[in-house]
Amino acid sequence: MGTKNYDAAIIGGGVVGCAVARELSRYDLRICLIEKEKEIGSGMPRAGSAVVHAGFDAVPGTLKARLNVLGNKMMDQLAEELDFDFIRNGAIVLCFDDSDVIRLLELHDRGKMNGVPGLKLLDRKKLGRREPNITKKSPYGLYAPTGGIVCPFEMTAALAESASVNGVEFMRNTEVSEIRKEDGVYCISADGEEIRAKYVVNAAGIYADKIHNMVSARTLHITPRRVEYCLLDQEAGTHVTSAIFQLPGAYGRGILVSPTVQGNLLVGPAADQEEQADTAAGAAGLAEAYGKSLWSVDGIPFHKAAASFSRLEAYEDKDDFILEEAEDAEGFFDAAGMESTGLSSAPAIGAYMAEMVAKKADAAKKEHFRPGRKGFAGFAAAGREEQKEGGGL
Ligand SMILES: Cc1cc2nc3c(=O)[nH]c(=O)nc-3n(C[C@H](O)[C@H](O)[C@H](O)COP(=O)(O)OP(=O)(O)OC[C@H]3O[C@@H](n4cnc5c(N)ncnc54)[C@H](O)[C@@H]3O)c2cc1C
Repeated sequence: MGTKNYDAAIIGGGVVGCAVARELSRYDLRICLIEKEKEIGSGMPRAGSAVVHAGFDAVPGTLKARLNVLGNKMMDQLAEELDFDFIRNGAIVLCFDDSDVIRLLELHDRGKMNGVPGLKLLDRKKLGRREPNITKKSPYGLYAPTGGIVCPFEMTAALAESASVNGVEFMRNTEVSEIRKEDGVYCISADGEEIRAKYVVNAAGIYADKIHNMVSARTLHITPRRVEYCLLDQEAGTHVTSAIFQLPGAYGRGILVSPTVQGNLLVGPAADQEEQADTAAGAAGLAEAYGKSLWSVDGIPFHKAAASFSRLEAYEDKDDFILEEAEDAEGFFDAAGMESTGLSSAPAIGAYMAEMVAKKADAAKKEHFRPGRKGFAGFAAAGREEQKEGGGL
């Protein structure tokens, strides 16, 4: 068993772990990132899309609210520096009954409290002008101009590359199975390696509770929930321009219809299903998503369906991000409970966590941090080998 020594070890190479790695690499620290899978960002749909949420949904005063709005704001500069596609196409939340306009107004006020700029209530006529394919079932919509879309896999790869260029060592195919503390240092056992680090950041997604519970008696509990999406091919991609959400309520959580940065159309998610370990998209769930999506958008060309996929989301019992040093494990930091806005918030979470760890480590900023990275056109749509050649991890 080899032993490797670092100042800080980040567990998990999803978008959050990679964002923390990049931000922490601004400091004069020896850092490694440990990922159990062969590839970084393995939990991300390769050719999918994600919404960069505006931030009107989260409860004011929560970390989720604050870091979603800040992460959204940081996205332009990050996309510019790391050369990944980010389109600020706006988002609209539709209601389907005149009486629901009150709930849209509540969402508007909540958004204002969270600091979301430019929110507007649109009536039927204005909705139709902005999005001609929105159905007549919707009398009002809340428009958020700061909503956007990215390719989550491309963004994660870009963050990882930037962290790597700035000195973070990536250990892939390396699953953390045990963590002990000896003489003030965490000893992490992972696939035959012993990794020793004074500080640990737990960014293990749906397994963050298992990692946390290895060192802390104050246990975390994360519930994985499966969500399913359908991707329509590029001929369908211009059917709407904004991300169209439904006000959650009578029809459940609501369905999203959104263009993707690659020019496809995304429809979903289908019904939540708890504690599902597999990620195969189910036909029943997708049929339900199709049906519900027709409430918001007319004439979705479902015959152009190109792929369907499902992924697991992490829900933590307290319903907010957990971004803190564990109370009973000094130097061990959780970045857990990311749920459905983790990607939008990732730039802000990265900076927030890095500052916390650097302060604890009393680390100074490096003189020569390299913020830039050159991506390549069509990264997200490219095959795996092309992505590797182009620099993807
Ligand atoms: C289908 C779907 C759609 C979504 N859409 C959006 C959206 O539109 N907008 C948005 O903002 N958010 C969205 N989200 C949420 C967002 O994607 C997540 O919040 C975010 O990806 C969480 O990132 P993470 O890095 O915390 O977790 P993950 O991406 O799960 O990364 C955790 C990593 O830790 C690794 N790991 C776990 N255990 C170990 C171990 N023992 N040893 C080593 N490595 C380990 C895993 O392999 C994994 O790579 C969506 C989520 C899903 C599932």
